[in-house]
Amino acid sequence: MTNLPMNDDGCGWLNIMPKRQPNSALDKDVNAKWVIVGAGFSGLSAAITLAEKQPNDEIILIDAANAGEGASARNSGYLVDTTLNDGHMSDTGIAAYKQKYDLNLEASNLVKQMVDKYSIDCDWNECGKYYASSTFDNEDKLNNFKTLLDSLNIKGEFYEHKELSQKLGTEFYKMAVKTFGGAMLQPAALARGLINALPANVSLYENTKVLKINFANQHIIKCKNATIKASNLIIAVNGYMAQLGVKKDRAFPLLLTASLTRALNPSEIKAIKQVDEWAVLSANHMGATLRYTADNRLMIRNSVQVTRDMQLGNADMKLKVAHHLKGLKARFDFLPDDIIAHSWTGITCISANNANVFDEIAPNCWAIGCYNGGGIGLGCLFGQEIAHKALGENTQIIELIEQRPKPKWLPPQPFLNWGVATKLALDRRKAVEEA
Ligand SMILES: Cc1cc2nc3c(=O)[nH]c(=O)nc-3n(C[C@H](O)[C@H](O)[C@H](O)COP(=O)(O)OP(=O)(O)OC[C@H]3O[C@@H](n4cnc5c(N)ncnc54)[C@H](O)[C@@H]3O)c2cc1C
Repeated sequence: MTNLPMNDDGCGWLNIMPKRQPNSALDKDVNAKWVIVGAGFSGLSAAITLAEKQPNDEIILIDAANAGEGASARNSGYLVDTTLNDGHMSDTGIAAYKQKYDLNLEASNLVKQMVDKYSIDCDWNECGKYYASSTFDNEDKLNNFKTLLDSLNIKGEFYEHKELSQKLGTEFYKMAVKTFGGAMLQPAALARGLINALPANVSLYENTKVLKINFANQHIIKCKNATIKASNLIIAVNGYMAQLGVKKDRAFPLLLTASLTRALNPSEIKAIKQVDEWAVLSANHMGATLRYTADNRLMIRNSVQVTRDMQLGNADMKLKVAHHLKGLKARFDFLPDDIIAHSWTGITCISANNANVFDEIAPNCWAIGCYNGGGIGLGCLFGQEIAHKALGENTQIIELIEQRPKPKWLPPQPFLNWGVATKLALDRRKAVEEA
């Protein structure tokens, strides 16, 4: 399969789980009342909601690769409520932040409900997360963030170097603001749990790539070995939207690379001061995301780039892994050179103004995605809510989503990739010490 995540590469979260036998591909033409394209968090959640609400309807869910093994399995596992803002403390800035926070809170609550309802074992831990900085350059930003949290009655704590190093087992960070909502989780296990929760009236076809869609009264969905005619269609392919001609001028994909170590051994656990599970996001956009998991592994993601073909060659991957190792050793110099056990890429989806896609793009065809790095919660929430919308129902959450700004217009390629690459390079320069 080209242009899509490989099924059997090094994604650590997938590799440490038992293998799953994928369902067969669709190999004959069908007519359907409901079709959902994309079986990540968004598509799975939409399928579960629709199937539970319409028990007599068949819902066809198709994915180009193995279900749940795209970005949904490959992310860093932060189910977020708060996000770091750049210190916009005007009334409009605070109101916009509150709107985003409320949506993330709904999303976190939904994921928690799903985890409980379907008994999903995904290493759920409400341990909070640190927005941390290794220099004093971000002191104002972090102080403003703490003031913002206080003004909205969101619990946040400021940590100085000494206390922080005791919590994280490294002297690397100078300061941090800790927030307490959301959860840390094993993303591939959450995705697997949602696949297992699909009701019997969902027909899941895997390794069935949609090549083209003609939007009409009956949408014509062309796959490699089959054509589907669908009365209602939900497109939930996130970073791959543009490949299907959807929201090309509003949302664009970015390629991220991450690594997971083997479990630390007893002497390494001692060297990291036997700390509990923790999670760090950088105070700089381009700084490293780092986790220490309950089973004593470290995960790092410290690179992001524009991509034309949605994958990385071997030589580039080697450079990224070397960069991950450097980032880990900068924080934990006792780690050996072969500590990284798994490295992988994933595709995320971004807009210019941090806005999301939640739209009826043609009669009886809806698209969701573009979560700007926050798609564990929002993917599940948008999936649930687009199912309500497709059934003609209105909800308070739909109103909340629709009050948010729409993604701004983006220039066409190749100007878009040039512009984004330049912006990333500038941000990267500011975050050299945080990588
Ligand atoms: C490295 C990394 C770290 C991240 N960290 C976080 C984090 O900590 N917290 C967070 O909230 N979010 C994070 N994200 C973002 C998050 O993973 C995504 O927003 C989320 O997975 C989106 O879910 P989705 O179902 O919309 O898309 P995906 O999980 O991408 O699912 C889309 C599915 O569509 C399928 N598909 C694509 N094209 C076609 C086609 N033509 N035909 C059929 N099927 C198709 C794909 O195979 C895929 O399975 C991260 C992303 C990456 C890559």
